[in-house]
Amino acid sequence: MQDIAVIGTGNMGAPMSTNLSRSGFTVHAFDIAGEKLAPLETHGVRACKDHADAIAGADMVLTMLPTAHEVRDVFDRHFTQYAGPGCLLVDSSTIDLEDARRLHQDAAGSGYKMLDAPVSGGTAGAAAARLTFMVGGLSDHLDNARPVLEAMGARIIHCGGPGMGQAAKMCNNMMLAIQMASVVEGFHLAKQVGLGDGKLYEVAHSSSADCFSLTAFCPVPGVVENVPAERDYEPGFSTDLMLKDIGIALDAAKRSGLSLTLAPLAASIYRRFSNAGYGDRDFSAIYRLLATDEE
Ligand code: NAD
Repeated sequence: MQDIAVIGTGNMGAPMSTNLSRSGFTVHAFDIAGEKLAPLETHGVRACKDHADAIAGADMVLTMLPTAHEVRDVFDRHFTQYAGPGCLLVDSSTIDLEDARRLHQDAAGSGYKMLDAPVSGGTAGAAAARLTFMVGGLSDHLDNARPVLEAMGARIIHCGGPGMGQAAKMCNNMMLAIQMASVVEGFHLAKQVGLGDGKLYEVAHSSSADCFSLTAFCPVPGVVENVPAERDYEPGFSTDLMLKDIGIALDAAKRSGLSLTLAPLAASIYRRFSNAGYGDRDFSAIYRLLATDEE
């Protein structure tokens, strides 16, 4: 497993490609937004002219694309055309369970190996090669992919058979969506009663409310360095991607007959923010939406 094609070099795929190259893999990358490829060349990643150029001859193809729509399109129109026999497809995009299972079936039917391997850890985790990979698929395939995943992540968790990585990711991100809304409301209440942002952070960070939304994506400017709130909420993890993820969770709950209480409420917050024109801002920027509500 030496030649790796990366398809999709956005906020996540770019640092992941760089880390692969840094670990000694030969990396061929393609993104339809060509301008995202050039900066990667200084890190030893080969910028490819199209999907075929990246995929042909690769031992493994890693897709890091926005939604199931793009993953399916790349699989149907490019992967099955250009990948060699036995090539391993690792999809690290966040997509729904049903699409992931269909992809596994179709890959196996065409003689390919596949893992669904969505990630957690955000752009900071991607940059630091500290991602958590949640993997669904056969153990043998994971054994093949493990050294590659270890070059990008700190934890590789085998969650079960085909689709179970996406099942884990869906639950995780539903929890994250709700968690961010709770952190935002905590800061607004603090402000309302005269408690400083920094003081609430100091207390919560060392108390029972400590969490990823507080530390890695602190939604209030001026409290934590290098979070999206410090750069006008440039993602990070966009509101529209969070909206997609929580939609995946709501659909799965509906299909399985589970009635959820908090997730639909959180979804309505991200939807309103996106509808107001801020879908491309980081999901922590709902801090601004809720502040507007209160004023
Ligand atoms: P992004 O929008 O920054 O990057 C996606 C890239 O895919 C873009 O550069 C786009 O041009 C490219 N692309 C789209 N269609 C393509 C195609 N047909 N062929 C080649 N390239 C194509 O998104 P991101 O933040 O990097 O997220 C990617 C995936 O990872 C999403 O599924 C997201 O939900 C998931 N994810 C993101 C984060 C995060 O913090 N950003 C964390 C965990 C998981």
